[in-house]
Amino acid sequence: MQTIAIIGAGVTGLSCAVRLLRAGFKVSIFDRSGFPGQGASAAAAGMLTPLGESAELPLRFVEAGLKAIGIWKDLLADEMPCALKRRGSLLVASAFDRPLLTAFQRGIEPLSDRWVMLDRAGVRTLEPCLSPVYEDGLYFPEDAHLDAIEALKAMVRLTLQMGGQLICEETEVSDLWDRYDRVIDCRGWTQDHDPDLHAVKGEALSLLPPDGFQLTRPVRFFSGAELFYAVPHAGDGLIVGATMRREALPVEDMPRLDGLKSLLDAAQTLDRRLNRAYLKEVLCGVRPSYPTKLPRISTGQDGAYIAANGMYRHGFLLGPVVAQAVMDLVNSDDTPCLSMFSDRNNDRGAL
Ligand SMILES: Cc1cc2nc3c(=O)[nH]c(=O)nc-3n(C[C@H](O)[C@H](O)[C@H](O)COP(=O)(O)OP(=O)(O)OC[C@H]3O[C@@H](n4cnc5c(N)ncnc54)[C@H](O)[C@@H]3O)c2cc1C
Repeated sequence: MQTIAIIGAGVTGLSCAVRLLRAGFKVSIFDRSGFPGQGASAAAAGMLTPLGESAELPLRFVEAGLKAIGIWKDLLADEMPCALKRRGSLLVASAFDRPLLTAFQRGIEPLSDRWVMLDRAGVRTLEPCLSPVYEDGLYFPEDAHLDAIEALKAMVRLTLQMGGQLICEETEVSDLWDRYDRVIDCRGWTQDHDPDLHAVKGEALSLLPPDGFQLTRPVRFFSGAELFYAVPHAGDGLIVGATMRREALPVEDMPRLDGLKSLLDAAQTLDRRLNRAYLKEVLCGVRPSYPTKLPRISTGQDGAYIAANGMYRHGFLLGPVVAQAVMDLVNSDDTPCLSMFSDRNNDRGAL
């Protein structure tokens, strides 16, 4: 039986661990920060919204995201059946935002059978707490969301149940060759190990809204000219996110005040009642990104080294599909699924 070492217990590494253990491989997973790891995955809002993001994702990645929702559903069915909710997602706009909404709509025209245009009454039927200022909405019924931390913990438990080994240790690829047949590198953003990778810092606020304000699905909205989101979280909670800032070196893993200010402004734009929300936690992570903003799987050492990285804003959305491609690669040299994660096929400039 092949022995496999995985570096990184974020959503990418854990998805690979579960997939490979289910296929019968012997897996050890290393993380310097514990299990689950405390990288970008621990800051995620848990949106699985391929259709809501279809303006910026190539179509095959939208389809991959929909496939991933099915994989998450099966994976969490026994462990955490309530962690995933498939209630769709919404994009809402006030009269002031209408030009932005129209521009957004043009980007999703090719998928016009997968979303529904709503008027004010339609928006309020789906989300009665939203302010009547939202006159227009787009509803993406196939989208979903999950509790990111619960999903990561469920994968840690599954890894242990299937005999995977968790090793809390900082490690390097070169330390592992003599002990393992293969090394799968899922380190996310780490300075210096991949010159193409850059850091996109993200902050989000985990809030406890005042009584009477509750959402049931992810809602995107405009604040200034930018899109923000609010996602239901942990019972009555809400995550408002997210900032996006390309960081220069060195990358500090702390939130920045201007980021927090834009999130506070966004929360207030969504609804003034959120001024009275309690702040449970500031979430902050460094998204690993390639220039294409799409994940990349690469190999070295005659296939003994596999790197899966660049999940950018889509670690939860695409992690299970990346793990499937990694597993296919462990089983054979090339797969149709793998070609999707080669930059050759994704090099189409800004997306
Ligand atoms: C605010 C915010 C909100 C987000 N919301 C969403 C969302 O709603 N939906 C979505 O799909 N995505 C979301 N994302 C993006 C998502 O979080 C990332 O794409 C994803 O977490 C990347 O996962 P990863 O496993 O590749 O990297 P990470 O989660 O960063 O994991 C890498 C791990 O490797 C470990 N490590 C690094 N070097 C070493 C070493 N030498 N030895 C041992 N261990 C090492 C680190 O400790 C870390 O735990 C969000 C991101 C942010 C910041």
